[in-house]
Amino acid sequence: MSETLLNIDGAQGEGGGQIIRSSLALSMCLKKPFQITHIRANRDRPGLQRQHLTAVTAAATIVDADVEGAEIGSQRLVFIPGQVQPGDYHFAIGTAGSTTLVLQTLLPALMLTDKPSTLVLEGGTHNHFAPPYDFLVKSFLPLIQRMGPAITARLERTGFAPGGGGILHVTIQPVKSLKPLLITERGRILQQGAEVLLAHLAEHIAYRELKVIASTLGYAADQLHFRPVESAYGPGNVVLIYVQSESVTEVFSAFGERGLPAEQVAEKAVNEVRHYLQSGAAVGKNLADQLLIPIALAGQGAFVTPKPSLHTLTNIAVIRQFMNVEFTSRQLNPDAWLISLP
Ligand code: ATP
Repeated sequence: MSETLLNIDGAQGEGGGQIIRSSLALSMCLKKPFQITHIRANRDRPGLQRQHLTAVTAAATIVDADVEGAEIGSQRLVFIPGQVQPGDYHFAIGTAGSTTLVLQTLLPALMLTDKPSTLVLEGGTHNHFAPPYDFLVKSFLPLIQRMGPAITARLERTGFAPGGGGILHVTIQPVKSLKPLLITERGRILQQGAEVLLAHLAEHIAYRELKVIASTLGYAADQLHFRPVESAYGPGNVVLIYVQSESVTEVFSAFGERGLPAEQVAEKAVNEVRHYLQSGAAVGKNLADQLLIPIALAGQGAFVTPKPSLHTLTNIAVIRQFMNVEFTSRQLNPDAWLISLP
């Protein structure tokens, strides 16, 4: 392996899995070989875990890459990509690892090529610390569609951790280049609502969560929905709150955990909504993270978001290494920042 490798430090900034996912996504798109060391150095279980390893092997399959270090627990990886090969792919994580994070890795290359693709991804579809399926379809993908590619996602089966068994289908109609994305104003709030997903747990959990949302956010009965998920392999509970404005739909979520009262689960999601509404920003912190790579690939874009997280700043640093582009971040008021390129 004699090609010049870009050296990525997996311990920089946040030091988590995003550094490897972003590096893979950019390497696939730009055909740039890289080496990453200290993978997920700041996590309790450092190195590649199943979700990251699936992202590596799936990425390698799609761009016919030469790879070193693709093993569970590996803290060093070399990735030398070839040409993107659009097609029909099926990848199973093998655990309840997040399918949407695997998609986050593969999507940029498959939406910027010359032929359509389909993906079937198996694992978790509603995971803590990952975009829930509902966020993907209501929030993220509509913004990507605004940039040109036509992408549809369908949930065949919901997968929670640790049960897994989720199945996500995605079809991707690519474009040659992306249009810039500008979300500098939130505009009027058009609609808000909440949904509680519950699998194989007592129904009162869902009703208690909805009650907290009704009393804190003032939602009426027709804005509150209980969605039992019979087909999930194991138990699971997630609270999803939607805020649709003129420019963007945001989806905030909180996951039920053993030992955490239902009321507190709902309050976590409610607090995120309140913080978002009060900030006046259009793009919440997770969406902000996820829009950086598409905007960098478009070469232009801007959005207003609450204070950029370490996660976002780390992502910007990784993008800078691959693309030599400089996002600027300017504080507009105590609660909102404008992130823009160029
Ligand atoms: P790892 O455990 O692999 O080290 P990480 O540290 O990269 O992962 P996070 O920082 O938690 O993981 O974020 C993973 C990704 O999931 C980011 O793109 C983030 O924006 C997204 N994400 C996390 N939580 C949510 C959520 N509630 N809604 C939408 N997206 C989310």
